[in-house]
Amino acid sequence: MSATSTLPASLSAERQLREVHHWVNGETMRGTSGQFGDVYNPATGRVQAKVALATSAEVNLAVTAAARAFPAWSAQPALRRARVLFRFREIFERRLDEVAALLTSEHGKVFSDAKGEATRGLEVVEFATGIPQLLKGEYTEQVGSDIDSWSMRQPLGVVAGITPFNFPAMVPMWMFPIALACGNTFVLKPSERDPSASLLLADMLKEAGLPDGVFNVVNGDKTAVDALLSHPTVQAISFVGSTPIAEYVYREGTKHGKRVQALGGAKNHMIVMPDADLDQAADALVGAAYGSAGERCMAISVAVTVGNATADKLIDKIEHRIEGLQMGDGMKEGAELGPLVTKTHLDRVTGYLQHGQSEGAELLVDGRENALAKGEGFFLGACLFDHVKPEMKIYREEIFGPVLGIVRASDFETALQLINDHEYGNGTSIFTRDGDTARDFAHRVQAGMVGINVPIPVPMAFHSFGGWKRSLFGDHAMYGPEGVRFYTRLKTITARWPTGIRKGVDTSMPTLG
Ligand code: NAD
Repeated sequence: MSATSTLPASLSAERQLREVHHWVNGETMRGTSGQFGDVYNPATGRVQAKVALATSAEVNLAVTAAARAFPAWSAQPALRRARVLFRFREIFERRLDEVAALLTSEHGKVFSDAKGEATRGLEVVEFATGIPQLLKGEYTEQVGSDIDSWSMRQPLGVVAGITPFNFPAMVPMWMFPIALACGNTFVLKPSERDPSASLLLADMLKEAGLPDGVFNVVNGDKTAVDALLSHPTVQAISFVGSTPIAEYVYREGTKHGKRVQALGGAKNHMIVMPDADLDQAADALVGAAYGSAGERCMAISVAVTVGNATADKLIDKIEHRIEGLQMGDGMKEGAELGPLVTKTHLDRVTGYLQHGQSEGAELLVDGRENALAKGEGFFLGACLFDHVKPEMKIYREEIFGPVLGIVRASDFETALQLINDHEYGNGTSIFTRDGDTARDFAHRVQAGMVGINVPIPVPMAFHSFGGWKRSLFGDHAMYGPEGVRFYTRLKTITARWPTGIRKGVDTSMPTLG
Protein backbone atom coordinates (compact mmCIF):
# COMPACT_ATOMS: atom_id res chain seq x y z
CA MET A 1 0.00 0.00 0.00
CA SER A 2 1.33 3.44 -0.86
CA ALA A 3 2.33 5.77 1.95
CA THR A 4 0.08 8.48 0.55
CA SER A 5 -3.30 7.89 -0.98
CA THR A 6 -6.44 9.80 -1.82
CA LEU A 7 -9.47 8.56 0.08
CA PRO A 8 -12.22 7.31 -2.22
CA ALA A 9 -15.37 9.39 -2.02
CA SER A 10 -17.49 6.27 -1.60
CA LEU A 11 -17.54 4.47 1.71
CA SER A 12 -14.85 1.82 1.72
CA ALA A 13 -13.29 -0.28 4.45
CA GLU A 14 -10.51 2.30 4.71
CA ARG A 15 -13.09 5.02 5.30
CA GLN A 16 -13.75 3.44 8.70
CA LEU A 17 -10.22 4.15 9.83
CA ARG A 18 -9.54 6.80 12.42
CA GLU A 19 -8.60 10.08 10.79
CA VAL A 20 -6.01 12.46 12.20
CA HIS A 21 -6.56 16.12 11.33
CA HIS A 22 -5.06 19.48 12.35
CA TRP A 23 -5.36 21.65 15.46
CA VAL A 24 -5.82 25.34 14.84
CA ASN A 25 -7.02 28.09 17.14
CA GLY A 26 -7.77 25.74 20.01
CA GLU A 27 -9.83 23.17 18.12
CA THR A 28 -9.65 20.41 15.55
CA MET A 29 -9.49 21.70 12.00
CA ARG A 30 -10.48 19.04 9.49
CA GLY A 31 -8.15 18.69 6.54
CA THR A 32 -9.61 19.67 3.21
CA SER A 33 -6.86 18.58 0.80
CA GLY A 34 -8.31 15.12 0.25
CA GLN A 35 -4.74 13.84 0.63
CA PHE A 36 -3.99 11.42 3.45
CA GLY A 37 -0.92 9.54 4.67
CA ASP A 38 -1.05 6.05 6.16
CA VAL A 39 -0.32 5.63 9.85
CA TYR A 40 0.65 2.05 10.67
CA ASN A 41 0.67 -0.03 13.78
CA PRO A 42 4.23 -1.33 13.25
CA ALA A 43 3.65 -4.33 15.51
CA THR A 44 0.87 -5.68 13.27
CA GLY A 45 1.98 -4.15 9.99
CA ARG A 46 -1.52 -2.81 9.38
CA VAL A 47 -2.71 0.73 8.65
CA GLN A 48 -4.51 1.99 11.76
CA ALA A 49 -5.25 5.61 10.82
CA LYS A 50 -5.13 8.16 8.04
CA VAL A 51 -3.44 11.49 8.58
CA ALA A 52 -4.63 14.53 6.66
CA LEU A 53 -1.86 16.23 4.68
CA ALA A 54 -2.17 20.01 4.80
CA THR A 55 -2.15 22.36 1.84
CA SER A 56 -0.21 25.61 2.04
CA ALA A 57 -3.56 27.42 2.50
CA GLU A 58 -4.20 25.30 5.61
CA VAL A 59 -0.70 26.06 6.90
CA ASN A 60 -1.52 29.72 6.37
CA LEU A 61 -4.64 29.36 8.57
CA ALA A 62 -2.50 27.95 11.39
CA VAL A 63 0.13 30.68 11.04
CA THR A 64 -2.58 33.35 10.96
CA ALA A 65 -4.16 31.96 14.14
CA ALA A 66 -0.74 31.98 15.82
CA ALA A 67 -0.07 35.55 14.67
CA ARG A 68 -3.42 36.71 16.06
CA ALA A 69 -2.68 35.10 19.43
CA PHE A 70 0.83 36.56 19.72
CA PRO A 71 0.18 40.12 21.00
CA ALA A 72 -1.88 39.02 24.02
CA TRP A 73 0.26 35.98 24.85
CA SER A 74 3.56 37.83 24.64
CA ALA A 75 2.15 40.63 26.81
CA GLN A 76 1.39 38.20 29.66
CA PRO A 77 3.81 38.32 32.60
CA ALA A 78 6.29 35.45 32.25
CA LEU A 79 5.06 34.01 35.54
CA ARG A 80 1.54 33.68 34.17
CA ARG A 81 2.85 31.84 31.09
CA ALA A 82 4.87 29.61 33.41
CA ARG A 83 1.73 28.79 35.38
CA VAL A 84 0.07 27.37 32.25
CA LEU A 85 3.09 25.09 31.88
CA PHE A 86 2.86 24.07 35.54
CA ARG A 87 -0.74 22.97 34.93
CA PHE A 88 0.27 21.25 31.67
CA ARG A 89 2.95 19.36 33.60
CA GLU A 90 0.37 18.04 36.07
CA ILE A 91 -2.02 16.96 33.32
CA PHE A 92 0.75 15.35 31.28
CA GLU A 93 2.04 13.40 34.25
CA ARG A 94 -1.46 12.16 35.03
CA ARG A 95 -1.92 11.03 31.42
CA LEU A 96 1.62 9.74 30.91
CA ASP A 97 0.55 6.13 30.33
CA GLU A 98 -1.95 7.28 27.71
CA VAL A 99 0.77 9.27 25.92
CA ALA A 100 3.18 6.33 26.08
CA ALA A 101 0.62 3.84 24.74
CA LEU A 102 -0.06 6.15 21.80
CA LEU A 103 3.67 6.40 21.08
CA THR A 104 4.01 2.62 21.16
CA SER A 105 1.02 2.07 18.89
CA GLU A 106 2.27 4.40 16.12
CA HIS A 107 6.05 4.30 16.51
CA GLY A 108 6.52 0.74 17.77
CA LYS A 109 8.94 1.43 20.63
CA VAL A 110 8.31 -0.61 23.76
CA PHE A 111 6.01 0.87 26.40
CA SER A 112 8.72 1.38 29.08
CA ASP A 113 10.87 3.22 26.52
CA ALA A 114 7.87 5.32 25.44
CA LYS A 115 7.37 6.33 29.08
CA GLY A 116 11.05 7.28 29.20
CA GLU A 117 10.60 9.44 26.10
CA ALA A 118 7.59 11.20 27.61
CA THR A 119 9.46 11.79 30.87
CA ARG A 120 12.48 13.30 29.11
CA GLY A 121 10.09 15.64 27.29
CA LEU A 122 8.46 16.60 30.57
CA GLU A 123 11.84 17.66 31.95
CA VAL A 124 11.97 20.45 29.36
CA VAL A 125 8.55 21.62 30.55
CA GLU A 126 9.93 21.69 34.09
CA PHE A 127 12.89 23.77 32.90
CA ALA A 128 10.57 26.15 31.05
CA THR A 129 8.49 26.79 34.17
CA GLY A 130 11.53 28.68 35.47
CA ILE A 131 11.15 31.23 32.67
CA PRO A 132 10.81 34.33 34.90
CA GLN A 133 14.33 33.62 36.15
CA LEU A 134 15.64 32.68 32.68
CA LEU A 135 14.37 35.88 31.07
CA LYS A 136 16.03 38.19 33.58
CA GLY A 137 18.24 40.60 31.67
CA GLU A 138 21.51 42.26 32.53
CA TYR A 139 21.91 45.73 33.97
CA THR A 140 24.93 47.99 34.21
CA GLU A 141 24.77 51.18 36.14
CA GLN A 142 26.91 54.04 34.87
CA VAL A 143 28.07 52.69 31.49
CA GLY A 144 29.03 56.28 30.83
CA SER A 145 28.68 59.39 32.93
CA ASP A 146 25.10 59.31 34.30
CA ILE A 147 24.12 56.67 31.77
CA ASP A 148 22.71 53.24 32.61
CA SER A 149 22.29 50.32 30.26
CA TRP A 150 20.34 47.07 30.37
CA SER A 151 19.52 44.26 28.03
CA MET A 152 16.41 42.14 27.78
CA ARG A 153 15.23 39.27 25.66
CA GLN A 154 11.93 39.49 23.81
CA PRO A 155 9.96 36.80 21.93
CA LEU A 156 10.24 36.50 18.16
CA GLY A 157 6.56 36.09 17.20
CA VAL A 158 5.25 33.00 15.37
CA VAL A 159 7.77 30.17 15.43
CA ALA A 160 7.47 26.70 13.88
CA GLY A 161 8.69 23.21 14.76
CA ILE A 162 9.17 20.40 12.25
CA THR A 163 9.78 17.06 13.91
CA PRO A 164 10.88 13.48 13.08
CA PHE A 165 9.11 10.18 13.60
CA ASN A 166 11.46 8.74 16.20
CA PHE A 167 10.42 10.88 19.20
CA PRO A 168 6.86 11.99 18.44
CA ALA A 169 6.36 13.53 21.90
CA MET A 170 9.84 14.34 23.20
CA VAL A 171 11.21 16.28 20.22
CA PRO A 172 8.17 18.63 19.99
CA MET A 173 8.65 19.04 23.76
CA TRP A 174 12.27 20.08 23.20
CA MET A 175 10.79 23.05 21.37
CA PHE A 176 7.35 24.37 22.31
CA PRO A 177 7.62 24.61 26.14
CA ILE A 178 10.50 27.07 25.88
CA ALA A 179 9.12 28.85 22.83
CA LEU A 180 5.76 29.41 24.56
CA ALA A 181 7.31 30.31 27.92
CA CYS A 182 9.36 33.01 26.15
CA GLY A 183 6.12 34.48 24.77
CA ASN A 184 6.08 33.13 21.20
CA THR A 185 3.20 31.36 19.54
CA PHE A 186 3.81 28.03 17.84
CA VAL A 187 2.95 25.96 14.78
CA LEU A 188 4.03 22.31 14.95
CA LYS A 189 4.40 20.09 11.88
CA PRO A 190 4.90 16.59 13.29
CA SER A 191 6.08 13.52 11.41
CA GLU A 192 3.30 12.16 9.23
CA ARG A 193 4.31 8.64 10.30
CA ASP A 194 3.19 9.01 13.94
CA PRO A 195 1.18 12.26 14.18
CA SER A 196 -1.32 11.54 16.99
CA ALA A 197 0.83 12.41 20.01
CA SER A 198 0.99 16.05 18.87
CA LEU A 199 -2.78 16.35 18.98
CA LEU A 200 -2.86 14.86 22.45
CA LEU A 201 -0.28 17.47 23.51
CA ALA A 202 -2.49 20.21 22.00
CA ASP A 203 -5.49 18.89 23.91
CA MET A 204 -3.57 18.89 27.19
CA LEU A 205 -2.27 22.42 26.61
CA LYS A 206 -5.84 23.58 26.11
CA GLU A 207 -6.92 21.84 29.31
CA ALA A 208 -4.03 23.62 31.06
CA GLY A 209 -5.53 26.97 30.06
CA LEU A 210 -3.35 27.89 27.08
CA PRO A 211 -5.23 30.55 25.07
CA ASP A 212 -6.51 29.48 21.66
CA GLY A 213 -4.11 30.00 18.78
CA VAL A 214 -0.96 29.96 20.91
CA PHE A 215 -0.21 26.33 19.94
CA ASN A 216 -1.27 24.87 16.60
CA VAL A 217 -0.60 21.62 14.77
CA VAL A 218 -0.61 21.13 11.01
CA ASN A 219 -0.10 17.62 9.78
CA GLY A 220 1.50 17.10 6.44
CA ASP A 221 4.50 16.41 4.31
CA LYS A 222 6.90 18.47 2.17
CA THR A 223 4.07 20.77 1.05
CA ALA A 224 3.39 21.83 4.65
CA VAL A 225 7.11 22.17 5.43
CA ASP A 226 7.71 24.35 2.37
CA ALA A 227 4.74 26.54 3.27
CA LEU A 228 6.25 27.16 6.71
CA LEU A 229 9.72 27.81 5.31
CA SER A 230 8.51 30.53 2.98
CA HIS A 231 5.74 32.06 5.11
CA PRO A 232 6.66 35.69 5.81
CA THR A 233 5.05 35.66 9.27
CA VAL A 234 7.07 32.72 10.58
CA GLN A 235 10.10 34.12 12.37
CA ALA A 236 12.01 30.99 13.29
CA ILE A 237 12.14 27.31 12.43
CA SER A 238 13.26 24.50 14.71
CA PHE A 239 13.85 21.30 12.80
CA VAL A 240 14.91 17.80 13.83
CA GLY A 241 15.26 15.01 11.28
CA SER A 242 17.64 13.54 8.73
CA THR A 243 20.68 15.47 7.51
CA PRO A 244 19.62 16.05 3.88
CA ILE A 245 16.31 17.55 5.02
CA ALA A 246 17.97 19.48 7.87
CA GLU A 247 20.34 21.06 5.37
CA TYR A 248 17.45 21.87 3.03
CA VAL A 249 15.39 23.40 5.85
CA TYR A 250 18.36 25.46 7.00
CA ARG A 251 19.10 26.72 3.49
CA GLU A 252 15.48 27.52 2.61
CA GLY A 253 14.59 28.97 6.01
CA THR A 254 17.59 31.29 6.16
CA LYS A 255 17.02 32.27 2.52
CA HIS A 256 13.64 33.55 3.65
CA GLY A 257 15.24 35.52 6.46
CA LYS A 258 14.32 33.18 9.30
CA ARG A 259 16.29 32.09 12.30
CA VAL A 260 16.85 28.33 11.88
CA GLN A 261 18.16 25.54 14.07
CA ALA A 262 18.19 22.25 12.12
CA LEU A 263 19.37 19.09 13.83
CA GLY A 264 20.28 16.23 11.53
CA GLY A 265 21.41 12.62 11.51
CA ALA A 266 24.15 10.82 13.35
CA LYS A 267 26.62 7.97 13.48
CA ASN A 268 27.51 7.73 17.14
CA HIS A 269 30.71 5.90 18.06
CA MET A 270 31.56 4.34 21.39
CA ILE A 271 35.25 3.69 22.07
CA VAL A 272 35.94 0.70 24.29
CA MET A 273 39.43 0.82 25.78
CA PRO A 274 41.25 -2.34 26.92
CA ASP A 275 41.02 -1.19 30.55
CA ALA A 276 37.23 -0.72 30.48
CA ASP A 277 34.89 -2.78 32.64
CA LEU A 278 33.74 -4.93 29.73
CA ASP A 279 30.58 -6.21 31.41
CA GLN A 280 29.50 -2.65 32.05
CA ALA A 281 30.49 -1.65 28.50
CA ALA A 282 28.58 -4.59 26.98
CA ASP A 283 25.41 -3.80 28.95
CA ALA A 284 25.65 -0.15 27.96
CA LEU A 285 26.35 -0.97 24.32
CA VAL A 286 23.45 -3.39 23.89
CA GLY A 287 21.03 -0.90 25.45
CA ALA A 288 22.39 2.00 23.39
CA ALA A 289 22.53 0.11 20.08
CA TYR A 290 19.25 -1.79 20.19
CA GLY A 291 16.99 0.34 22.44
CA SER A 292 14.08 1.74 20.41
CA ALA A 293 15.24 -0.67 17.65
CA GLY A 294 18.17 1.67 16.99
CA GLU A 295 15.82 4.46 15.89
CA ARG A 296 17.41 7.06 18.15
CA CYS A 297 19.58 9.92 16.97
CA MET A 298 21.83 9.19 19.95
CA ALA A 299 21.90 5.40 19.43
CA ILE A 300 25.38 3.90 19.34
CA SER A 301 25.80 2.38 15.90
CA VAL A 302 29.59 1.91 15.91
CA ALA A 303 31.69 0.36 18.66
CA VAL A 304 35.39 1.09 18.23
CA THR A 305 37.36 -1.47 20.16
CA VAL A 306 40.97 -0.69 20.94
CA GLY A 307 43.01 -3.87 20.51
CA ASN A 308 41.92 -7.19 19.04
CA ALA A 309 41.66 -8.84 22.44
CA THR A 310 39.17 -6.15 23.55
CA ALA A 311 37.09 -6.78 20.41
CA ASP A 312 36.97 -10.55 20.93
CA LYS A 313 36.04 -10.32 24.60
CA LEU A 314 33.42 -7.62 23.99
CA ILE A 315 31.79 -9.49 21.10
CA ASP A 316 31.49 -12.57 23.25
CA LYS A 317 29.64 -10.58 25.89
CA ILE A 318 27.41 -8.74 23.40
CA GLU A 319 26.36 -11.92 21.59
CA HIS A 320 25.39 -13.45 24.88
CA ARG A 321 23.26 -10.41 25.76
CA ILE A 322 21.63 -10.18 22.32
CA GLU A 323 20.35 -13.74 22.74
CA GLY A 324 18.47 -12.59 25.82
CA LEU A 325 16.69 -9.62 24.17
CA GLN A 326 12.92 -10.08 24.05
CA MET A 327 11.53 -8.93 20.71
CA GLY A 328 7.82 -8.25 20.43
CA ASP A 329 4.84 -5.92 20.37
CA GLY A 330 5.87 -2.97 22.54
CA MET A 331 2.69 -3.29 24.64
CA LYS A 332 3.55 -6.87 25.65
CA GLU A 333 4.98 -7.29 29.15
CA GLY A 334 8.74 -7.80 29.02
CA ALA A 335 9.24 -6.70 25.38
CA GLU A 336 12.62 -4.99 24.92
CA LEU A 337 12.94 -4.68 21.16
CA GLY A 338 9.94 -3.44 19.19
CA PRO A 339 9.37 -3.22 15.43
CA LEU A 340 10.69 -0.58 13.03
CA VAL A 341 8.35 2.24 12.12
CA THR A 342 7.30 1.22 8.59
CA LYS A 343 7.88 -1.51 6.03
CA THR A 344 9.75 0.99 3.86
CA HIS A 345 12.15 1.70 6.70
CA LEU A 346 12.51 -2.01 7.49
CA ASP A 347 13.44 -2.69 3.86
CA ARG A 348 15.96 0.15 3.93
CA VAL A 349 17.63 -1.25 7.06
CA THR A 350 17.75 -4.82 5.71
CA GLY A 351 19.23 -3.38 2.50
CA TYR A 352 22.19 -2.21 4.60
CA LEU A 353 22.67 -5.77 5.87
CA GLN A 354 23.14 -6.90 2.27
CA HIS A 355 25.51 -4.01 1.57
CA GLY A 356 27.59 -4.82 4.66
CA GLN A 357 27.94 -8.45 3.67
CA SER A 358 28.83 -7.68 0.07
CA GLU A 359 31.44 -5.14 1.22
CA GLY A 360 33.13 -7.79 3.36
CA ALA A 361 31.96 -7.07 6.89
CA GLU A 362 31.21 -10.18 8.92
CA LEU A 363 27.56 -10.45 10.00
CA LEU A 364 27.91 -12.24 13.34
CA VAL A 365 24.26 -11.95 14.34
CA ASP A 366 21.59 -11.76 11.63
CA GLY A 367 18.37 -10.35 13.06
CA ARG A 368 16.42 -11.46 9.99
CA GLU A 369 16.56 -15.02 11.29
CA ASN A 370 14.31 -14.25 14.25
CA ALA A 371 10.84 -15.80 13.87
CA LEU A 372 9.07 -12.49 14.51
CA ALA A 373 11.04 -10.92 11.65
CA LYS A 374 9.25 -13.28 9.31
CA GLY A 375 5.76 -12.23 10.46
CA GLU A 376 3.42 -9.36 9.61
CA GLY A 377 4.88 -6.64 11.82
CA PHE A 378 7.96 -4.62 10.85
CA PHE A 379 10.31 -6.59 13.10
CA LEU A 380 14.03 -7.04 12.74
CA GLY A 381 16.13 -8.70 15.42
CA ALA A 382 19.39 -7.24 16.70
CA CYS A 383 22.17 -7.42 14.10
CA LEU A 384 25.91 -7.35 14.78
CA PHE A 385 28.68 -6.76 12.24
CA ASP A 386 32.38 -7.29 12.94
CA HIS A 387 35.35 -6.08 10.86
CA VAL A 388 33.56 -2.95 9.67
CA LYS A 389 35.90 -0.63 7.76
CA PRO A 390 35.67 3.19 7.40
CA GLU A 391 35.17 3.04 3.64
CA MET A 392 32.09 0.80 3.88
CA LYS A 393 28.60 2.19 3.28
CA ILE A 394 27.39 0.65 6.56
CA TYR A 395 30.04 2.73 8.34
CA ARG A 396 29.61 6.00 6.49
CA GLU A 397 25.81 6.19 6.47
CA GLU A 398 23.22 6.34 9.21
CA ILE A 399 21.26 3.06 9.20
CA PHE A 400 18.76 3.96 11.96
CA GLY A 401 17.92 0.39 12.87
CA PRO A 402 19.07 -2.36 15.26
CA VAL A 403 22.43 -2.76 13.54
CA LEU A 404 25.70 -2.37 15.44
CA GLY A 405 29.08 -2.41 13.70
CA ILE A 406 32.41 -3.16 15.36
CA VAL A 407 35.45 -1.33 14.03
CA ARG A 408 38.75 -2.68 15.33
CA ALA A 409 41.33 0.05 16.04
CA SER A 410 44.92 -0.58 17.04
CA ASP A 411 45.17 2.31 19.51
CA PHE A 412 43.36 5.27 21.06
CA GLU A 413 44.65 7.81 18.52
CA THR A 414 43.30 5.76 15.60
CA ALA A 415 39.95 5.39 17.35
CA LEU A 416 39.70 9.12 18.04
CA GLN A 417 40.68 9.99 14.47
CA LEU A 418 37.87 7.81 13.11
CA ILE A 419 35.30 9.85 15.03
CA ASN A 420 36.86 13.15 14.06
CA ASP A 421 36.93 12.18 10.38
CA HIS A 422 33.26 11.15 10.25
CA GLU A 423 30.83 13.59 8.65
CA TYR A 424 28.48 13.41 11.64
CA GLY A 425 29.30 14.65 15.13
CA ASN A 426 26.20 14.19 17.26
CA GLY A 427 27.04 12.06 20.31
CA THR A 428 29.98 9.86 21.25
CA SER A 429 31.29 8.02 24.28
CA ILE A 430 34.30 6.29 25.73
CA PHE A 431 34.45 3.40 28.17
CA THR A 432 37.67 3.36 30.18
CA ARG A 433 38.95 3.32 33.76
CA ASP A 434 41.65 5.85 32.91
CA GLY A 435 40.81 9.44 33.77
CA ASP A 436 43.63 10.86 31.69
CA THR A 437 42.44 9.13 28.48
CA ALA A 438 38.85 10.15 29.19
CA ARG A 439 39.82 13.76 29.72
CA ASP A 440 41.92 13.85 26.57
CA PHE A 441 39.01 12.29 24.63
CA ALA A 442 36.49 14.83 25.92
CA HIS A 443 38.84 17.65 25.02
CA ARG A 444 39.78 16.61 21.48
CA VAL A 445 36.76 14.75 20.11
CA GLN A 446 34.77 16.53 17.38
CA ALA A 447 31.21 15.90 18.59
CA GLY A 448 28.60 17.93 20.41
CA MET A 449 27.71 15.50 23.21
CA VAL A 450 30.26 13.31 24.93
CA GLY A 451 29.79 10.45 27.40
CA ILE A 452 32.44 9.07 29.73
CA ASN A 453 31.28 5.59 30.74
CA VAL A 454 27.83 6.87 29.75
CA PRO A 455 26.68 5.45 26.40
CA ILE A 456 23.94 7.94 25.46
CA PRO A 457 24.93 11.34 26.81
CA VAL A 458 21.67 13.20 26.16
CA PRO A 459 22.01 16.44 28.13
CA MET A 460 19.43 17.17 30.80
CA ALA A 461 16.85 19.88 30.15
CA PHE A 462 18.86 22.61 31.90
CA HIS A 463 21.81 22.00 29.58
CA SER A 464 21.34 22.04 25.79
CA PHE A 465 21.22 19.37 23.07
CA GLY A 466 23.08 19.61 19.81
CA GLY A 467 25.68 17.96 17.62
CA TRP A 468 28.56 19.26 15.53
CA LYS A 469 29.48 18.98 11.87
CA ARG A 470 26.62 17.73 9.67
CA SER A 471 24.51 16.82 12.71
CA LEU A 472 23.45 20.44 13.26
CA PHE A 473 22.92 23.37 10.93
CA GLY A 474 22.58 26.76 12.58
CA ASP A 475 24.03 28.48 15.59
CA HIS A 476 21.91 27.22 18.45
CA ALA A 477 21.53 23.85 20.09
CA MET A 478 18.10 22.90 21.36
CA TYR A 479 16.38 23.47 24.74
CA GLY A 480 18.11 24.60 27.94
CA PRO A 481 19.78 28.03 27.90
CA GLU A 482 20.43 27.73 24.14
CA GLY A 483 16.68 27.26 23.61
CA VAL A 484 15.91 30.46 25.49
CA ARG A 485 18.43 32.33 23.33
CA PHE A 486 17.02 30.84 20.13
CA TYR A 487 13.41 31.81 20.91
CA THR A 488 14.20 35.37 22.00
CA ARG A 489 15.99 38.34 20.58
CA LEU A 490 18.19 40.71 22.43
CA LYS A 491 17.35 44.33 23.00
CA THR A 492 19.79 46.60 24.77
CA ILE A 493 18.71 49.94 26.16
CA THR A 494 20.94 52.83 27.07
CA ALA A 495 19.33 55.59 29.13
CA ARG A 496 20.26 58.98 30.40
CA TRP A 497 18.07 61.21 32.59
CA PRO A 498 18.03 64.21 31.91
CA THR A 499 21.22 66.11 32.55
CA GLY A 500 22.90 64.87 29.34
CA ILE A 501 20.14 66.36 27.25
CA ARG A 502 20.56 69.67 28.98
CA LYS A 503 24.18 69.80 27.77
CA GLY A 504 22.95 70.21 24.18
CA VAL A 505 23.90 68.63 20.84
CA ASP A 506 27.14 66.62 20.58
CA THR A 507 27.90 65.05 17.18
CA SER A 508 31.06 63.14 18.13
CA MET A 509 31.07 59.42 19.01
CA PRO A 510 30.24 59.07 22.73
CA THR A 511 33.13 57.69 24.85
CA LEU A 512 33.70 57.26 28.55
CA GLY A 513 35.36 60.66 28.63
P1 NAD B 1 13.03 13.08 8.05
O1 NAD B 1 14.12 14.02 7.73
O2 NAD B 1 12.58 12.13 7.00
O3 NAD B 1 11.71 13.89 8.49
C1 NAD B 1 11.76 14.92 9.44
C2 NAD B 1 10.66 15.92 9.13
O4 NAD B 1 10.92 16.50 7.85
C3 NAD B 1 9.27 15.30 9.08
O5 NAD B 1 8.37 16.18 9.71
C4 NAD B 1 8.99 15.19 7.59
O6 NAD B 1 7.63 15.34 7.27
C5 NAD B 1 9.79 16.33 7.00
N1 NAD B 1 10.28 16.03 5.64
C6 NAD B 1 10.62 14.82 5.14
N2 NAD B 1 11.03 14.92 3.88
C7 NAD B 1 10.95 16.23 3.54
C8 NAD B 1 11.25 16.97 2.36
N3 NAD B 1 11.72 16.38 1.26
N4 NAD B 1 11.06 18.30 2.38
C9 NAD B 1 10.62 18.92 3.48
N5 NAD B 1 10.31 18.26 4.64
C10 NAD B 1 10.47 16.94 4.67
O7 NAD B 1 13.47 12.30 9.38
P2 NAD B 1 12.77 11.06 10.07
O8 NAD B 1 12.99 9.84 9.24
O9 NAD B 1 11.37 11.40 10.47
O10 NAD B 1 13.62 10.95 11.40
C11 NAD B 1 14.81 10.23 11.51
C12 NAD B 1 16.02 11.13 11.35
O11 NAD B 1 15.99 12.17 12.31
C13 NAD B 1 17.34 10.41 11.57
O12 NAD B 1 18.25 10.86 10.61
C14 NAD B 1 17.76 10.87 12.96
O13 NAD B 1 19.14 10.83 13.22
C15 NAD B 1 17.25 12.25 12.96
N6 NAD B 1 17.10 12.76 14.32
C16 NAD B 1 18.04 13.63 14.77
C17 NAD B 1 17.96 14.10 16.05
C18 NAD B 1 18.97 15.07 16.58
O14 NAD B 1 18.77 15.57 17.64
N7 NAD B 1 20.05 15.36 15.86
C19 NAD B 1 16.91 13.68 16.89
C20 NAD B 1 15.96 12.80 16.39
C21 NAD B 1 16.07 12.34 15.09
